[in-house]
Amino acid sequence: MSLIALAPGIFYFPGAVNSFVVVGRETDALLVDTGLDDSHARKLLRAVAEAGLVPSGILNTHSHADHHGGNAFILKRFPELKIFAPPLEDAVITHPILEPLTLFGARPPRELQGKFLLAPPSPARLAPEPGLCRMGGADLELIEVAGHASLMYAVRVGEVLYAADALFGPDALSKHPLTFCADSGLQKASAAKLAELEGCAPCYRVTAIPRMTWRGWWPSIWPPTSARPQRCWRRWTRARPASTNCWPASATLWTLP
Ligand SMILES: [Zn+2]
Repeated sequence: MSLIALAPGIFYFPGAVNSFVVVGRETDALLVDTGLDDSHARKLLRAVAEAGLVPSGILNTHSHADHHGGNAFILKRFPELKIFAPPLEDAVITHPILEPLTLFGARPPRELQGKFLLAPPSPARLAPEPGLCRMGGADLELIEVAGHASLMYAVRVGEVLYAADALFGPDALSKHPLTFCADSGLQKASAAKLAELEGCAPCYRVTAIPRMTWRGWWPSIWPPTSARPQRCWRRWTRARPASTNCWPASATLWTLP
């Protein structure tokens, strides 16, 4: 499988959780999220190499295992790479046992130590503050979108927005109406903030958020029925304003947290 171009120098690599790849100087390639496991990481590295690029850094948008589970594999091949993550999330990525430990409140049973909750450790460091920055030779904008995780960064590069798990599409919501979230109030505020962005163009499996009505559509927690998300989605498709020019797109939009 190859990298899929979204815009010049901006790619994604599809998977259960997709990776975002931003090209910096020459062949530098910043890898944003590394997937669940070695298998995703191996395929990602192969696709990056086939594109003539060399990994120059890793940014994990948040500390859920399906977003940093490939770090350790990539570090074996590129041990000099620096891994960046938002505050708090860097600690969990460095010490992944914190994830199931926090969920269980004590030493977690084996059932909570599978790869979906316990990725291999990798040494993460603090990412820059939200705003414009250069990371791994690539220029990008970090946007704080806390709520789904304690802290999470969306990544904007030009007209492309990688929303991480700040947005979910109807497929994911109808399959899993009750999504994980650390703070539902913050999650709604973050989604609303993304809806205010200007100048993002449609790209991959896109959704758009009607700015005037989004806040009223997303309850704190989706009711545990599959009908509700679909109904909301139909409302959206009817109400979507023709002038909507901001289409937050996420390489993980249709996937689970
Ligand atoms: Zn997540």
